Amino acid sequence: MSATDQPGPNQPGDVVNTDDGRAPTCNVEGAVKAPVPLEGLRGAVTGKAPLAKLVWFKTGGVADWLFEPADIDDLKLFMERLEGSLPVMALGLGSNLIIRDGGVPGVVIRLGKAFATVEVTGECELTCGGAASGILVASTARDAGIAGLEFLRGIPGTVGGFVRMNGGAYDREVSDILIDCDVILPDGHWVTLPLADLQYSYRHSVLPKGAIVVSARFKGTPGDPAEIGAEMDRIAKARQESQPLRTKTGGSTFKNPEGMKAWQLVDEAGCRGMTLGGAMVSDKHTNFLINTGSATSADIEELGELVRKKVYEKTGVCLEWEIQRVGRP
Ligand SMILES: Cc1cc2nc3c(=O)[nH]c(=O)nc-3n(C[C@H](O)[C@H](O)[C@H](O)COP(=O)(O)OP(=O)(O)OC[C@H]3O[C@@H](n4cnc5c(N)ncnc54)[C@H](O)[C@@H]3O)c2cc1C
Repeated sequence: MSATDQPGPNQPGDVVNTDDGRAPTCNVEGAVKAPVPLEGLRGAVTGKAPLAKLVWFKTGGVADWLFEPADIDDLKLFMERLEGSLPVMALGLGSNLIIRDGGVPGVVIRLGKAFATVEVTGECELTCGGAASGILVASTARDAGIAGLEFLRGIPGTVGGFVRMNGGAYDREVSDILIDCDVILPDGHWVTLPLADLQYSYRHSVLPKGAIVVSARFKGTPGDPAEIGAEMDRIAKARQESQPLRTKTGGSTFKNPEGMKAWQLVDEAGCRGMTLGGAMVSDKHTNFLINTGSATSADIEELGELVRKKVYEKTGVCLEWEIQRVGRP
């Protein structure tokens, strides 16, 4: 390590990046230390944290603050201390997000390994941490002979994202399998919300703003692991063939309007392959926008708006964004 590589004391405005699981300290006079007192917190608090590397599009600005809690008690303590004084947003794998270039105000909460577990906790029942991936949930269900969760194999997000977005595919969605979920509210209260409280509709829930899903219980039906595995393989293959999976994208850009396919409307409006700056409408799946390498979040969002305009002019249908767009322009 050269002298210039040596970590120095934190300065006001420095990015404080601890990855040893403990909260950082910042002793420089005048520096804004943290959004809450750090004493007793075990997770990492980072100021001006770059988010682009944490989301699929690989674009966007910084979070004013990023908090990566050590566990549920740590998250609860942090939220209690914050007392709703700043906006809070959960970040999963960023597979359905445009983080705007001006960054995200307040605190972004990212759940780590402690929240990524999946356990069989009852008859055809799994309890999954908020940060567990779709593939882990589906594989655990397969190994336990639980059918009905195969569709999660193809959705590249976390349980927290699925619960908020009512993620779904192949005529199944989270509302078909959720029993309940545990949530830390912005004031630090820990509540269990049953399925009915989420009032699910297509890719939408009424989960309160700033609420963090820390775990969810899913139910399935008895099944043969070999058959469940075969269905998961079929889903993986179908995705591979129809979606630009190894690209910087955000999944389906627009919700399918009742009785219609968004990709078809986008195609009919002549938008296949259309570009704006470094953003492009995928020519493999026209409901996917892609960062070809140099896109800003503004490029991607403007291209999406242009597509909406063209679809409206051509078909009279007003497409609704499925991708969540957050932060300052
Ligand atoms: C290639 C590709 C294919 C996709 N295919 C599908 C598909 O078939 N079906 C489908 O439904 N989606 C699909 N998506 C979109 C995406 O995977 C889902 O919307 C998924 O639910 C998002 O999960 P995430 O953890 O990445 O959430 P993020 O993208 O990080 O966040 C999405 C929203 O969920 C909230 N959120 C995330 N974690 C939590 C939490 N712990 N608590 C509370 N809120 C939280 C965020 O605040 C934000 O509002 C696809 C995306 C890609 C890139």
